[in-house]
Amino acid sequence: MTRIAFIGLGNMGLPMATNLIKSGFHVVGSDLNPDFVAGLIAAGGDGAADSAEAVASADIVVSMLPSGAIVKAVYMNEGGVFDHAKAGALFIDSSTIDVATAREVAEAAGQRGFDMVDAPVSGGVAGAAAGTLAFMVGGSEKAYNSAHPIIEAMAGKIVHAGGNGNGQAAKICNNMLLAITMIGTGEAFNLGKSLGVEDQVLYDIMANASGQSWSLTSYCPVPGPVPASPANNGYKPGFATALMLKDLRLAIEAASSAGANTPLGTHARDIYSDMDAAGLGGVDFSGVIKTLSGEP
Ligand code: NAD
Repeated sequence: MTRIAFIGLGNMGLPMATNLIKSGFHVVGSDLNPDFVAGLIAAGGDGAADSAEAVASADIVVSMLPSGAIVKAVYMNEGGVFDHAKAGALFIDSSTIDVATAREVAEAAGQRGFDMVDAPVSGGVAGAAAGTLAFMVGGSEKAYNSAHPIIEAMAGKIVHAGGNGNGQAAKICNNMLLAITMIGTGEAFNLGKSLGVEDQVLYDIMANASGQSWSLTSYCPVPGPVPASPANNGYKPGFATALMLKDLRLAIEAASSAGANTPLGTHARDIYSDMDAAGLGGVDFSGVIKTLSGEP
């Protein structure tokens, strides 16, 4: 049976690891928080004292960690994953981290004889629980093909985005566009209201005209037109402003090191940063419509 080490059993990691167990894999988990390791054991997995112990007998290592600095430390520090993994083990990092670190860790893995892919996800905690996450994968064709059957147990959609780091690059490009269209959609509804146009009327027009987007028709920021959108549920996430801000910061950092011009992405980052600073980091990102109109 394929043995998987799963490092990082937080909001996303635990339900993802649980789906791997449901698909018949043997999963050994580690997390700094022992309660989360206990959660994996309750779901049918095994617990390890630390990541070194978890990876020692694993064929595959999956990580779901908060930041690039932590991913780099977990894999590359003395006594970390590189030092303890079995020869030939495959690494799948699903954390959302900066492109440069993803490429650095993958290159270092290659130098030690390991294949690695970056495989960030979208779909949030609900997608992690349902096993319907969208994975954007960066790595060689060979590593992608080896990772595919593992990822499949957690995924609704899997796309090979190119070489190492391209999964992270694709994710931040998408989320930068999402932030920009959400702010634009909010501005359009706020302007419509100021000019006396009903939300539903404006929705019906824009949804069938050139202003149509996912932010409008799947995640409408005003209550009413799209029943499942967080606007109908007090702007509870969904996708929290703090997480959107994290992705926008990664996007603008990457744009700056690549010399790409992203004026609207930068402005979107500033708007979400203000929202977060106002104590609204836990509000769904579509709540930006209220921030834009100056409402509480
Ligand atoms: P989380 O904070 O709930 O989980 C991260 C886990 O990593 C924590 O349980 C923490 O204890 C553990 N951890 C930290 N350092 C560790 C170490 N050295 N060794 C072992 N475990 C360690 O975060 P999350 O919401 O599960 O997100 C994980 C990643 O997925 C992040 O990169 C995030 O940006 C990304 N992501 C999250 C969502 C979401 O909706 N939550 C959606 C898409 C992507």
